[in-house]
Amino acid sequence: MDLEKYIAIVEDWPSKGISFKDITPLMADGAAFKYATEQIVEYAKKKQIDIVVGPEARGFIIGCPVAYALGVGFAPVRKEGKLPRETIKVEYGLEYGKDVLTIHKDAVKPGQRVLIIDDLLATGGTIEATKKLVEQLGGIVVGAAFLIELTYLNGREKLSGIDLKTLIQY
Ligand code: IMP
Repeated sequence: MDLEKYIAIVEDWPSKGISFKDITPLMADGAAFKYATEQIVEYAKKKQIDIVVGPEARGFIIGCPVAYALGVGFAPVRKEGKLPRETIKVEYGLEYGKDVLTIHKDAVKPGQRVLIIDDLLATGGTIEATKKLVEQLGGIVVGAAFLIELTYLNGREKLSGIDLKTLIQY
């Protein structure tokens, strides 16, 4: 299936010069959403995943159906102040300034094999920070999967230690 035709490209959004990839048409189409989920599930099946970890918010949308299909749990990574119990946090650089991501301290158990899922790989900063959180808890990141990869932002180089799966490349 040609998944690219389900991605809407919005130029100059959310700010001038950004070519935003909107995945909502893909999510809205049952066959396309199912196919995309199954592609990631196929990739993950051989990896003996214990838990899927996904950053907010679109990582939840893609990560949860994959976790369900694999029969494993899902742990959310969120911005600071959103998770109710004890968390650990990591700061990561944005184009301008810094942001913080957090995860519950008991979300991943030492030795668990973790698949990270998000909608889109751009510079790789979000996933690098997510990997740090998982590793601080003793988890092993055995792969990361995305619907979309913006190859011109070289996120792959930043994440060179992780096995990556992406379904659509720009
Ligand atoms: P990175 O940290 O630079 O790799 O940026 C990836 C994060 O930004 C992901 O969590 C995406 O949801 C979000 N993101 C960046 N650009 C886009 C886009 O064009 N469409 C949808 N999400 C995007």
